[in-house]
Amino acid sequence: MGDTESKLTGFSLIGGKSVEDHGAGFFGANPADASRLEPQFFSATSENVELAASLATEAFPVFAHQSGQARARFLRAIGENLTAGGAPVIDRAHLETGLPLTRLQGELGRTIGQLKMFAEVLEEGSWVDARIDGADPARKPAPRPDIRSMLRPIGPVVVFGASNFPLAFSVAGGDTASALAAGNPVLVKAHPAHPGTSELVGKLVQKAVKEMGLPAGVFSLLFDASIDVGIALVKHPAVKAVAFTGSAAGGQALMRLAAERPEPIPCYAEMGSTNPMFILPGAMRDRGAAIAQGLLGSFTLGSGQFCTKPGLVFVPQQEGTDFVQGLQSSVTALGPHGMLTQAIAKKYSSSVRKRMDVGSVQAIAVANAILEDNCAAGTAALFEVSLDEFLADPELEEEIFGPTTLLVKYGDKAAILLAAEKLHGHLTATIHGTEEDLANADDLIRILDRKVGRILFNGYPTGVEVCHAMVHGGPYPATSDGRSTSVGSRAIFRFARQVCYQDCPDAALPAELRKGNPLGVMRMVNGRLTREAQS
Ligand code: NAP
Repeated sequence: MGDTESKLTGFSLIGGKSVEDHGAGFFGANPADASRLEPQFFSATSENVELAASLATEAFPVFAHQSGQARARFLRAIGENLTAGGAPVIDRAHLETGLPLTRLQGELGRTIGQLKMFAEVLEEGSWVDARIDGADPARKPAPRPDIRSMLRPIGPVVVFGASNFPLAFSVAGGDTASALAAGNPVLVKAHPAHPGTSELVGKLVQKAVKEMGLPAGVFSLLFDASIDVGIALVKHPAVKAVAFTGSAAGGQALMRLAAERPEPIPCYAEMGSTNPMFILPGAMRDRGAAIAQGLLGSFTLGSGQFCTKPGLVFVPQQEGTDFVQGLQSSVTALGPHGMLTQAIAKKYSSSVRKRMDVGSVQAIAVANAILEDNCAAGTAALFEVSLDEFLADPELEEEIFGPTTLLVKYGDKAAILLAAEKLHGHLTATIHGTEEDLANADDLIRILDRKVGRILFNGYPTGVEVCHAMVHGGPYPATSDGRSTSVGSRAIFRFARQVCYQDCPDAALPAELRKGNPLGVMRMVNGRLTREAQS
């Protein structure tokens, strides 16, 4: 990373440079002791929003008509810049989030890996879902026209950086990578919890834009001390889609804004999820102690600040005594959990206190941790409730973001099916069962595949693999659109729309739809998948 890229200015990045006119200032903070981190950052102004939006509008037709190969080179260039310039990014992210360096190194690798994955998708080319139904002039009673369709980019996309993934779901994270891959300019609203990390990464993206000779409006990064810039971006007529990861309240507010515009646009919000886990009786008998340790690791991993944290565990009443006791003593012995921000730590503590006050819920273990003044930290907590009480209180299904989980004691299979049927949408569900348990669990599985995006067997939901088959989505309220995923190569489909060309001359068609199939992509020709050229 050169001097220019590693020096923080605190200004939004628009049009290939740092813009110096600005609104209110704010500082990043070190969650370990709430100390202020230099330099000051500056909110974008409404003029900055206008400029970023108009540059994105200008850039869109140029960027959208680049070949997949060219866009792949761009994504690879961002990845290479992140590889070369990763060290200061990780150091700053460590200061701003308190996340361990090893975790951040892994997250940087994941971020670069995501960019490479989308580059490979573009190089292979078949993602555009090209379909061709040839003309039939002799068809009676009316001739059939030549009809060809494929996916095309949607337009400028606003990406909200997530607090809990300062790299993999922020400035150059999965939402940005998939939106750029589809051919859309991206306007990132930086998360105020890691502004320095955002600026450093933003500069590396900007550098790749320049290196590839792309219009500067392909990428902008805007800071804000409040929510005004995010709102202005979502409302801006130039913007055609929104991607967000964060709270249910934030996601729902953005969904409303996107839907209430004169031209409504899709808002892909990934919000809270409690990720129910079902422990079946055989598994509990055979390996309850091991499951307790695995669960403990999963719900406290990253201080419970993962959207896939298992926050709801259905435990068989008859067989679960040792399991519960094991968990109880492990949780009690835990130290404090550093959290991402003071605000998140405060919200976690108040949610835990609120749960302690629910008469039907028992706090069966609270960590013995001593929290220091001013540090953003939380105390792990384990709760228990009966299935009947759980069913009577819908709030118990809601996410508490942090190192806590709720055990729900169930009696028999009918009870567990009833509980599963009552669940709303979540990102994941997990079943622990023996071979025999699982052979008899098809009714539970059939319910869960209506409720979640990913069903795990004998595992733990934290740790989302980035690959082609991954689904990191789920029915509302886990996400705003249960047909989508924000992790894995299918994330690209959120930012593309189908366009059909009827009786279009071959030379005027996109390469993917031409008779000769010059890119050799897989296409559906008259209902049959093939890479062959048309005769
Ligand atoms: P957040 O409050 O949802 O904020 C995420 C981003 O959206 C921030 O940039 C925020 O701007 C912006 N935003 C929020 N509400 C908005 C609105 N009404 N209009 C426009 N922009 C809005 O999430 P957070 O700050 O990361 O964490 C707060 C809580 O969110 C956590 O305690 C946790 O409960 C939840 N969370 C959940 C997940 C998950 O994956 N399920 C991940 C992260 C956080 P400002 O920061 O400037 O307000």
